[in-house]
Amino acid sequence: TEQSSSPYYKEITRVLKSVFKLESFRGNQLEAILATMSGKDVFVLMPTGGGKSLCYQLPAVCKGSSSSGLTVVVSPLIALMNDQVNGLRNIGVDVELWNSENSSDDAYAITRRLKGGVGELPCMLYLTPEKLSESAVLKSILGRLYEMGALARFVIDEAHCISTWGRDFRDAYAKLDCLRAWYPNVPIMALTATANESVIKNIIDRLSIPNCVFLKQSFNRPNLHYDVREKKKNTILKEIAAFIKSRHANETGIIYCFARAHCEQVAQALRDEFGLRAEHYHAGMPQAEKKRTQDQWQSGEAQIIVSTIAFGMGIDKKDVRFVIHHTMPKNMDGYYQETGRAGRDGRPADCILFYQYGDAKALMEQIAKDKDDGTTPLTEEDKTRLTEEVKKVMEYCTNISRCRRVQVLRYFNEAFHESDCHKGCDVCMDDAEVTTRDVTTEAIEAIKLLKSMSGNNSMAHCKAVFVGSKKKEVMQRGHDGLPGHGKGHGLGQKGIDQLFEELVAMDVFREQAITNSGGWSNSYLQLGQRANEVLSGQKRVTIHVKAGPAS
Ligand code: ADP
Ligand code: ZN
Repeated sequence: TEQSSSPYYKEITRVLKSVFKLESFRGNQLEAILATMSGKDVFVLMPTGGGKSLCYQLPAVCKGSSSSGLTVVVSPLIALMNDQVNGLRNIGVDVELWNSENSSDDAYAITRRLKGGVGELPCMLYLTPEKLSESAVLKSILGRLYEMGALARFVIDEAHCISTWGRDFRDAYAKLDCLRAWYPNVPIMALTATANESVIKNIIDRLSIPNCVFLKQSFNRPNLHYDVREKKKNTILKEIAAFIKSRHANETGIIYCFARAHCEQVAQALRDEFGLRAEHYHAGMPQAEKKRTQDQWQSGEAQIIVSTIAFGMGIDKKDVRFVIHHTMPKNMDGYYQETGRAGRDGRPADCILFYQYGDAKALMEQIAKDKDDGTTPLTEEDKTRLTEEVKKVMEYCTNISRCRRVQVLRYFNEAFHESDCHKGCDVCMDDAEVTTRDVTTEAIEAIKLLKSMSGNNSMAHCKAVFVGSKKKEVMQRGHDGLPGHGKGHGLGQKGIDQLFEELVAMDVFREQAITNSGGWSNSYLQLGQRANEVLSGQKRVTIHVKAGPAS
C-alpha cells in the first residue's frame, strides 16, 4: 500500500512493537504519524479513548525522520501529564516534564539538558501552555534549538482549549498562536475530541495551520450501550442500586449528579441503604480529600464515585463499566464526554441517563438567573445559546423514535445508520412500536388557552385547565369557564405532559422564574418566540408515543 511504501514505515512499525508493545494501529493513527513525520501540520479529531497520545508519542521516539529532534507537547492538565510521563518512562522513553510543580532544581536540570548539544536532548518535553507562552528562559532555549533545526514538532493536546468558542477555554492556550510566528518551519499537531465545527475552525485559525492534514475519525463508541430512563424521584436510588448489583456487581462506575449536596446524599444512601461502596467527589472538597477519593476509586477500593462533572477530566481508568446520569447533562457535548469515560478498554459498558422535565427546567432557570459558576457574568447571547443546548438534551431524552446513537452522532454532524447500532441502545432494543403523533391541533388550543388566561399561571395550572380539571384552584379562578378548558382531554395526562414539554423545548412556551419579595421564586408559563409559527401553521408539533400498554 501507499502507506507501507513510506520511508518511515519500517521504523514506525518497529517502534510500535518494540517500544509500545502494540500489535497494530487503530483508526487514523498511522495516517497521523506518517503526516507529522513527513513534516506536515496535522489535525487529529478522535473520540476519547481513540488513542490520540500514540499519534505524537510514537513519532517522538522514531529515529531518522526528516523531522527528528525534540517533540514539545502542550497539555492542559498536570495530572494527565504526570500519567503520560510516568507511562513513557516505564517503557524506557526519555522524556522531560516542565510545569509549575517542578522545583527549581528540576527546572535547572531540565534547562541544562535542553541547552546541551543535540545528543543530550530528550525525545519529548511536556509543558503547560503557561510555561510555553510565558517563560522567557524557555523561549530563548527553544529559539536556540529552532536555529539548530532541533525542534521536531509542537503538539497541542486538548486543542479545543484554545478556542473561545469551547467550554474549556484557557487564556494561556490562546497565546499559542505565537508558535507559527516564532518557529515558522516547525510542524504542528493539534489533537482534540471536540467535534464542534466552529471550535475546529477556530483552532485551525489560531494555530495558523490552514493546510493541515485533517483526520477525523468516527465518534461512534460501539461498545457503549445508551439508555434513557424516566427519572422517578422516589425510586431512582433503588433502581440504580438494583442495576449495579445485578449487572455490575463489584465493577467500577461513575454516577453524575448536578449539585454538590446531591453527590453527598446519593453516595451516602447507596452506602447506608444499599451497602454499595460509593464515595462522593466534587470541586468543593479539600484537595487532599479529592485526591484520596480519586485514588480509592482508581485502585478499585471504592466501586462507585458519585460526582459533579468536576470529576473525570484527565481521568484515565480503562475499566469503567457504567456511567449513570442521575441528573441530565447540560449539553450533548458533556453527555458525550461523560459517557465516553466508560469502556475505554473497548469492552461493553452501560450508560444510563435518568431524565425528568424538572431537571431541565432547573438547568434553564439557573442559566436565566446567571448562576454560572460566578466567574464571568453571562451575556444574553450566552444565555440563549446555553438554553438551546439544554433543549437539545431534552430533545434527545424524549425522542424515543430514533436510535440514541444516531441522535448522539448527529450532534457531531456524523451520519450514522441505525442498523449499525446493533441493539446498542434502549430504542433499538425495544420492540414496542413507537409512533410519532401529530399534535399540532392540540398545541394550537394550548397556545390559545394560555393567551386567554390573565395573570401569572404555572405550567401545572395550565395543564390542569387544559385537561379539564375541576379542582379548587381552577374553579376559584373561574378558569373552568375558559373556552380552552378541557380541550386537551383527549391526550390524557401523559400526552399533555409530553405536549407541554415539547412546546417548551420548541420555545413555543417558556417557563419564566419570578422571584417575589420573600425571595421565593415561582415559575410561570409564558409564550416563547415560536408560538406564532405554530399558530399560523408554519410549524408542526409532534410527540412520540409508544404502542401497547401504557407504562
Ligand atoms: P485518547 O487520548 O484519545 O483519549 P489514549 O491515547 O489515552 O486515548 O488511548 C486510549 C487507550 O487505548 C490507551 O489505553 C492506549 O494504550 C490504547 N491504545 C492506543 N492505541 C492503541 C493501539 N493501536 N492498539 C491498542 N491499544 C491502543
Ligand atoms: Zn440504537
